[in-house]
Amino acid sequence: MELRITEIFLSLQGETRTVGLPTVFVRLTGCPLRCGYCDTAYAFKGGKKMQLEQIVSELKKYQVRHVTITGGEPLAQKNCLPLMSRLCDEGYEVSIETSGALDVSEIDSRVTKVVDLKTPGSKECAKNLYENIQHLNKKDQVKFVICHREDYDWSVAMMKQYDLANKCEVLFSPSYQELSGTTLADWIVHDQLPVRFQIQLHKILWQDQPGK
Ligand code: SF4
Repeated sequence: MELRITEIFLSLQGETRTVGLPTVFVRLTGCPLRCGYCDTAYAFKGGKKMQLEQIVSELKKYQVRHVTITGGEPLAQKNCLPLMSRLCDEGYEVSIETSGALDVSEIDSRVTKVVDLKTPGSKECAKNLYENIQHLNKKDQVKFVICHREDYDWSVAMMKQYDLANKCEVLFSPSYQELSGTTLADWIVHDQLPVRFQIQLHKILWQDQPGK
Protein backbone atom coordinates (compact mmCIF):
# COMPACT_ATOMS: atom_id res chain seq x y z
CA MET A 1 0.00 0.00 0.00
CA GLU A 2 1.61 3.18 -1.23
CA LEU A 3 1.39 6.90 -0.44
CA ARG A 4 3.13 9.93 -1.90
CA ILE A 5 4.97 11.76 0.88
CA THR A 6 6.57 15.23 0.80
CA GLU A 7 8.27 15.01 4.19
CA ILE A 8 8.30 13.33 7.59
CA PHE A 9 9.79 15.41 10.38
CA LEU A 10 9.87 15.95 14.12
CA SER A 11 8.88 19.33 15.52
CA LEU A 12 6.65 20.91 18.15
CA GLN A 13 2.96 21.03 17.37
CA GLY A 14 2.41 24.66 16.41
CA GLU A 15 -1.39 24.78 16.69
CA THR A 16 -4.48 22.98 17.99
CA ARG A 17 -5.17 21.54 21.43
CA THR A 18 -1.80 19.77 21.57
CA VAL A 19 0.23 22.91 20.82
CA GLY A 20 3.78 22.73 22.13
CA LEU A 21 3.98 18.93 22.29
CA PRO A 22 6.71 17.09 20.37
CA THR A 23 4.99 15.67 17.30
CA VAL A 24 6.05 13.87 14.15
CA PHE A 25 4.45 15.33 11.04
CA VAL A 26 3.71 13.21 7.97
CA ARG A 27 3.11 15.58 5.07
CA LEU A 28 1.26 13.95 2.19
CA THR A 29 1.77 15.35 -1.30
CA GLY A 30 -0.99 17.01 -3.32
CA CYS A 31 -3.89 19.39 -2.71
CA PRO A 32 -6.91 20.26 -4.88
CA LEU A 33 -7.23 23.73 -3.27
CA ARG A 34 -5.23 26.92 -3.80
CA CYS A 35 -5.72 29.10 -0.72
CA GLY A 36 -4.30 32.60 -1.06
CA TYR A 37 -2.27 32.29 2.14
CA CYS A 38 -0.96 28.75 1.56
CA ASP A 39 2.49 28.24 3.10
CA THR A 40 2.97 24.66 1.91
CA ALA A 41 2.76 25.05 -1.87
CA TYR A 42 5.93 22.93 -2.04
CA ALA A 43 3.70 19.97 -1.13
CA PHE A 44 1.44 20.37 -4.18
CA LYS A 45 3.70 18.21 -6.37
CA GLY A 46 6.68 15.90 -6.23
CA GLY A 47 7.24 13.98 -3.04
CA LYS A 48 8.31 10.36 -3.01
CA LYS A 49 6.32 7.16 -3.03
CA MET A 50 6.55 5.23 0.23
CA GLN A 51 5.00 1.97 1.30
CA LEU A 52 2.81 2.19 4.39
CA GLU A 53 5.25 -0.09 6.24
CA GLN A 54 8.14 2.21 5.33
CA ILE A 55 6.28 5.16 6.85
CA VAL A 56 5.64 3.21 10.06
CA SER A 57 9.34 2.27 10.31
CA GLU A 58 10.35 5.89 9.74
CA LEU A 59 8.06 7.02 12.57
CA LYS A 60 9.49 4.42 14.93
CA LYS A 61 12.84 6.26 14.79
CA TYR A 62 11.25 8.97 16.94
CA GLN A 63 10.36 8.55 20.62
CA VAL A 64 7.11 10.53 20.47
CA ARG A 65 3.45 9.64 20.97
CA HIS A 66 1.88 12.30 18.78
CA VAL A 67 1.66 12.02 15.00
CA THR A 68 -0.04 14.59 12.78
CA ILE A 69 -1.06 13.74 9.25
CA THR A 70 -0.99 16.88 7.12
CA GLY A 71 -0.40 18.16 3.61
CA GLY A 72 -1.26 19.46 1.16
CA GLU A 73 -4.63 17.87 1.61
CA PRO A 74 -3.95 14.41 3.05
CA LEU A 75 -7.42 13.03 2.30
CA ALA A 76 -6.77 13.52 -1.42
CA GLN A 77 -4.87 10.19 -1.23
CA LYS A 78 -7.22 7.29 -0.48
CA ASN A 79 -4.52 5.38 1.39
CA CYS A 80 -4.47 8.13 4.00
CA LEU A 81 -7.35 6.34 5.77
CA PRO A 82 -5.58 2.98 6.30
CA LEU A 83 -2.39 4.83 7.24
CA MET A 84 -4.16 6.59 10.10
CA SER A 85 -5.83 3.39 11.33
CA ARG A 86 -2.49 1.59 11.26
CA LEU A 87 -0.84 4.35 13.31
CA CYS A 88 -3.66 4.18 15.87
CA ASP A 89 -3.10 0.40 16.08
CA GLU A 90 0.58 1.14 16.78
CA GLY A 91 -0.48 3.19 19.81
CA TYR A 92 0.14 6.69 18.45
CA GLU A 93 -2.08 9.66 19.27
CA VAL A 94 -3.03 10.54 15.70
CA SER A 95 -4.49 13.78 14.39
CA ILE A 96 -5.24 14.95 10.87
CA GLU A 97 -5.21 18.49 9.53
CA THR A 98 -7.60 18.76 6.60
CA SER A 99 -8.95 21.59 4.46
CA GLY A 100 -12.59 20.66 5.06
CA ALA A 101 -13.16 20.25 1.33
CA LEU A 102 -13.15 16.43 1.37
CA ASP A 103 -15.31 13.89 3.19
CA VAL A 104 -14.14 13.13 6.76
CA SER A 105 -16.82 10.53 7.56
CA GLU A 106 -14.57 7.50 6.92
CA ILE A 107 -11.75 8.63 9.22
CA ASP A 108 -11.00 6.19 12.06
CA SER A 109 -12.88 7.32 15.19
CA ARG A 110 -9.64 7.19 17.23
CA VAL A 111 -8.17 10.03 15.14
CA THR A 112 -8.57 13.67 16.17
CA LYS A 113 -9.85 15.67 13.22
CA VAL A 114 -8.75 19.28 12.79
CA VAL A 115 -10.97 20.56 10.01
CA ASP A 116 -10.73 23.98 8.37
CA LEU A 117 -13.75 25.99 7.41
CA LYS A 118 -12.24 28.10 4.64
CA THR A 119 -13.14 31.77 5.03
CA PRO A 120 -13.91 34.08 2.08
CA GLY A 121 -10.41 35.59 2.51
CA SER A 122 -8.83 32.22 1.70
CA LYS A 123 -10.38 32.41 -1.81
CA GLU A 124 -11.47 28.76 -1.41
CA CYS A 125 -14.64 29.23 0.63
CA ALA A 126 -16.76 27.62 -2.10
CA LYS A 127 -14.98 24.29 -1.49
CA ASN A 128 -16.22 23.88 2.11
CA LEU A 129 -18.06 20.59 2.59
CA TYR A 130 -20.51 21.55 5.31
CA GLU A 131 -21.76 17.95 5.63
CA ASN A 132 -18.47 17.29 7.46
CA ILE A 133 -19.77 19.17 10.51
CA GLN A 134 -22.14 16.34 11.43
CA HIS A 135 -19.13 13.99 11.77
CA LEU A 136 -17.29 16.11 14.36
CA ASN A 137 -17.19 15.28 18.05
CA LYS A 138 -15.89 16.88 21.24
CA LYS A 139 -12.25 15.94 20.66
CA ASP A 140 -12.30 17.36 17.13
CA GLN A 141 -11.53 20.95 16.21
CA VAL A 142 -12.77 23.36 13.55
CA LYS A 143 -10.23 25.95 12.48
CA PHE A 144 -10.90 29.37 10.95
CA VAL A 145 -7.90 31.18 9.47
CA ILE A 146 -8.99 34.81 9.52
CA CYS A 147 -7.60 37.34 7.03
CA HIS A 148 -9.62 40.48 7.91
CA ARG A 149 -12.72 41.77 9.72
CA GLU A 150 -15.09 40.39 7.05
CA ASP A 151 -13.63 36.92 7.64
CA TYR A 152 -14.11 37.35 11.38
CA ASP A 153 -17.77 38.32 11.01
CA TRP A 154 -18.33 35.42 8.59
CA SER A 155 -16.67 32.96 11.01
CA VAL A 156 -18.82 34.13 13.93
CA ALA A 157 -21.93 33.72 11.74
CA MET A 158 -20.87 30.16 10.76
CA MET A 159 -20.25 29.28 14.42
CA LYS A 160 -23.78 30.35 15.27
CA GLN A 161 -25.43 28.79 12.22
CA TYR A 162 -23.88 25.36 12.89
CA ASP A 163 -23.76 25.62 16.71
CA LEU A 164 -20.07 24.76 16.45
CA ALA A 165 -19.04 25.66 19.99
CA ASN A 166 -21.33 22.95 21.36
CA LYS A 167 -20.16 20.31 18.90
CA CYS A 168 -16.37 20.60 19.06
CA GLU A 169 -13.56 23.00 19.86
CA VAL A 170 -13.36 26.12 17.67
CA LEU A 171 -9.97 27.59 16.77
CA PHE A 172 -9.47 31.15 15.48
CA SER A 173 -6.08 31.98 13.94
CA PRO A 174 -4.93 35.22 12.32
CA SER A 175 -3.69 34.68 8.78
CA TYR A 176 0.10 35.03 9.02
CA GLN A 177 1.20 38.53 7.89
CA GLU A 178 -2.39 39.46 6.90
CA LEU A 179 -4.04 40.16 10.27
CA SER A 180 -2.34 41.05 13.55
CA GLY A 181 -2.79 38.58 16.39
CA THR A 182 -3.49 41.45 18.78
CA THR A 183 -6.36 42.71 16.63
CA LEU A 184 -7.98 39.28 16.42
CA ALA A 185 -7.46 38.68 20.15
CA ASP A 186 -9.13 42.03 20.96
CA TRP A 187 -12.16 41.15 18.81
CA ILE A 188 -12.53 37.77 20.54
CA VAL A 189 -12.27 39.25 24.03
CA HIS A 190 -14.68 42.06 23.18
CA ASP A 191 -17.27 39.58 21.85
CA GLN A 192 -16.59 37.00 24.61
CA LEU A 193 -16.44 34.29 21.97
CA PRO A 194 -16.14 30.66 23.14
CA VAL A 195 -13.16 29.96 20.87
CA ARG A 196 -9.49 29.15 21.34
CA PHE A 197 -7.26 31.90 19.93
CA GLN A 198 -4.03 30.54 18.49
CA ILE A 199 -0.92 31.84 16.82
CA GLN A 200 1.28 29.46 14.84
CA LEU A 201 3.99 28.66 17.39
CA HIS A 202 6.32 27.19 14.76
CA LYS A 203 6.24 30.49 12.80
CA ILE A 204 7.29 32.41 15.91
CA LEU A 205 10.09 29.94 16.68
CA TRP A 206 11.38 29.12 13.21
CA GLN A 207 9.62 31.46 10.73
CA ASP A 208 9.26 29.59 7.43
CA GLN A 209 12.20 27.20 7.69
CA PRO A 210 11.34 23.96 5.90
CA GLY A 211 11.05 20.83 8.02
CA LYS A 212 10.00 22.80 11.14
S1 SF4 B 1 -5.81 23.47 1.76
FE1 SF4 B 1 -3.91 23.78 2.88
S2 SF4 B 1 -2.30 22.92 1.53
FE2 SF4 B 1 -4.15 23.19 0.26
S3 SF4 B 1 -3.89 25.22 -0.68
FE3 SF4 B 1 -5.10 25.50 1.21
S4 SF4 B 1 -3.57 26.01 2.81
FE4 SF4 B 1 -2.46 25.10 1.06
